[in-house]
Amino acid sequence: MTDRDLSGRVALVTGGSRGIGRAICRRLARAGAWVAINYSSSEEAAAETLAQIRADGGGGGIYGADVSSLEETDAMFLGIEADRGPVDLLVTNAGIASFRDDVDMPVELWRRILSVNLDGTFHCVWRAREAMLARGDGRIVCISSINGLAPSTLRPDRLIAYGTSKSAVIGFARNCATAFGPAIRVNCVAPGLIDTDMTKDMSDEMRRRIVESTPARRTGTPDDIAELTCFLLSDAAGFITGQTYVVSGGLVTLP
Ligand code: NAP
Repeated sequence: MTDRDLSGRVALVTGGSRGIGRAICRRLARAGAWVAINYSSSEEAAAETLAQIRADGGGGGIYGADVSSLEETDAMFLGIEADRGPVDLLVTNAGIASFRDDVDMPVELWRRILSVNLDGTFHCVWRAREAMLARGDGRIVCISSINGLAPSTLRPDRLIAYGTSKSAVIGFARNCATAFGPAIRVNCVAPGLIDTDMTKDMSDEMRRRIVESTPARRTGTPDDIAELTCFLLSDAAGFITGQTYVVSGGLVTLP
């Protein structure tokens, strides 16, 4: 057993059916955690994540819930608790974006993005924290975005609602780290452009401009995010809380 080992831990990854969430699920399972894979509509994809975990020799289960719903989130936690006990490790990854010019954004779109990205994060952290505080141990990683740190000057779609939701996630995580320490550590990971379903419709021209402005000269992979997330949930990161880490190949740098 090393300080990176997560054996015996129960992890929940929201939006674990695809993309970054799937890579995080697989990485946590390889570290020994039992992984609850959340999805909202992609049940088949969630089952595929579970099949991949099992093929790697790990364990887990799939749990449907729209995290923007407090009731569905609570039912998901009850299901995990009945199956495996309380959640020790939480990754709030489920998120949506709208790649359009937000200047004329309908209010319904604003509400939906904030509801999934921010309320969904809040619902899960609030539900997980009770058992974490009672046990005196919990670790949380919230997936934000570079758009939560710096408005994009490279994209024609201005991502006002998305960027606002991701800034709020960082503020929420910082406040939770202060409020719930030392029992619970809470950190954020802010990815740059990662190749997933979310970004697959981006134009070649836009992708080229972003890569050219990125010191690493490439887009990121879901595994780039999974590796850091796994570290932050482990004992090896025991003195790290309230922080935001950018994984963008250097496109965005923090002071
Ligand atoms: P993705 O490929 O579109 O996958 C999104 C995941 O979130 C899916 O598993 C989806 O499950 C789930 N999800 C969406 N709405 C949900 C809801 N209401 N309740 C529960 N699950 C829901 O996106 P991704 O690129 O992997 O993004 C994952 C996270 O990273 C997001 O928070 C995103 O904002 C962030 N991020 C991504 C990038 C990027 O370049 N890709 C950059 C920065 C930050 P269903 O299919 O079942 O709905």
